[in-house]
Amino acid sequence: MGRAFVYVILGGGVAAGYAALEFVRRGIAPGELCIISEESVAPYERPALSKGFLLPEAPACLPSFHTCVGANDERLTPKWYREHGIELVLGTKVKSADVKRMTLTTIAGETISYKILVVATGARALKLEEFGAKGSDAENVCYLRNLADAARLVSIMQSCSGGNAVVIGGGYIGMECAAALVTNRIRVTMVFPEAHCMGRLFTRKIADFYEAFYESKGVNFIKGTVLSSFENDSEGKVTTVILRDGTRVPTHMVVVGIGIRPNTSLFEGQLTIEKGGIKVNSRMQSSNSSVYAVGDVATFPVKLFGDEIRRLEHVDSARQTAKHAVSAIMLPEKTTDIDYLPFFYSRVFTLSWQFYGDNIGEVIHYGDFFAGRFGAYWISKGRIVGAFLEGGSREDYEAIAKAVKLKMIVKEKSELEKFGVEFASNA
Ligand code: FAD
Ligand code: NDP
Repeated sequence: MGRAFVYVILGGGVAAGYAALEFVRRGIAPGELCIISEESVAPYERPALSKGFLLPEAPACLPSFHTCVGANDERLTPKWYREHGIELVLGTKVKSADVKRMTLTTIAGETISYKILVVATGARALKLEEFGAKGSDAENVCYLRNLADAARLVSIMQSCSGGNAVVIGGGYIGMECAAALVTNRIRVTMVFPEAHCMGRLFTRKIADFYEAFYESKGVNFIKGTVLSSFENDSEGKVTTVILRDGTRVPTHMVVVGIGIRPNTSLFEGQLTIEKGGIKVNSRMQSSNSSVYAVGDVATFPVKLFGDEIRRLEHVDSARQTAKHAVSAIMLPEKTTDIDYLPFFYSRVFTLSWQFYGDNIGEVIHYGDFFAGRFGAYWISKGRIVGAFLEGGSREDYEAIAKAVKLKMIVKEKSELEKFGVEFASNA
């Protein structure tokens, strides 16, 4: 038993939604495109799960955040897919792929064949067990990757209002969930191994600002240690978190955000895998010319970094790589090499930051760290290669993005500190 399509998108997350819109805009015929997703809902803007969806009052709900509203574009509801003759195969996991035969087999045993496959399988949350700890299956331990996780987190938060939570991990999920927990009137202790939060991106000075802000909201930080074990009650709920340094933290719930692993397993041994992702060229095409990879699962050349290949785990990259792949598929001769400017952002409480480029080289901070309007430039070989800004205006963010894109030359480093965003405005 099986069905055949010209184009198949495997995965139904952010990249899938943006790819579908691009396929329609480039002119596919009804019945040509199929999207297969393990999730039971049409593609949505995943960032909403750690922000609007977790709000205690007037939370964001589907269908309001289906793709592509995050880029101020059309909102693709299930009706939109029907109207455009796109087959949405939801709640269906693909269990195997055969790139030679150009087929996918679903968990239900159906074989779906393709002429062109776009792999958009994203990533899964790493489990505590993968770091030698136990207890992920406890009733009050939460992860956050998909809508089902988010709905579970909301229901556990509601049952813990006025109580305590331990957040394990000081990265994006940890920071955004800690803010959401506080907003839900839950006291938070954050635990992570690094010396400061967001260790892979923030400098100590930048992290100090956010940590002080979180502390002013009642968040307690325990740094430089990791989870050792949980103590549970008779119902299997975690009641105490025990850390490797011996500290015991009583709690009503636990949120874990300790990184992700790209979903490449279907293609291991069939496609080239590098830096944890499916290696693609500047057209997002893998080592098999009928298979493209986009979003979190793709390792692609970043022109700005001298074509060094990178795997980026961020929503803008998912959107842009998806659009680029579809353009390369539908209009190969008119599609140039991808030229992507890496862009990360977060919004928590009243704060909002953006980062462009790469955080390598020397860092120069600027601005007012007390007033919450500050930034930093990363300089390498006399040029700006990265820029961070908290509390900027749209024009400010555009200016720092442009400065990085153009790799602005820095003659006098002191000018960066003196002029801050204004320095970039002259790019
Ligand atoms: P995903 O959106 O993860 O989609 C992958 C899809 O593939 C899923 O639907 C999955 O079920 C499906 N799938 C996987 N394997 C199979 C299979 N075998 N069969 C069928 N289906 C399969 N980035 C930012 O830049 N800013 C943010 O503020 C931000 N906030 C975030 C908040 C949260 C809670 C999370 C989890 C991530 C956030 N991100 C953010 C990261 C961003 O959401 C991801 O980079 C983006 O979703 C990647 O898109 P993707 O399509 O590659 O993967
Ligand atoms: P991150 O990689 O951002 O952070 C993981 C954090 O967990 C790091 O601080 C890491 O430390 C720490 N850690 C690793 N192992 C342990 C351990 N055993 N115990 C305690 N802490 C540990 O991943 P997240 O889980 O926060 O985010 C998952 C994905 O979601 C990422 O792709 C992220 O980009 C995305 N996301 C993005 C958002 C945004 O862009 N605004 C918002 C929410 C999610 P170390 O660095 O030392 O390994």
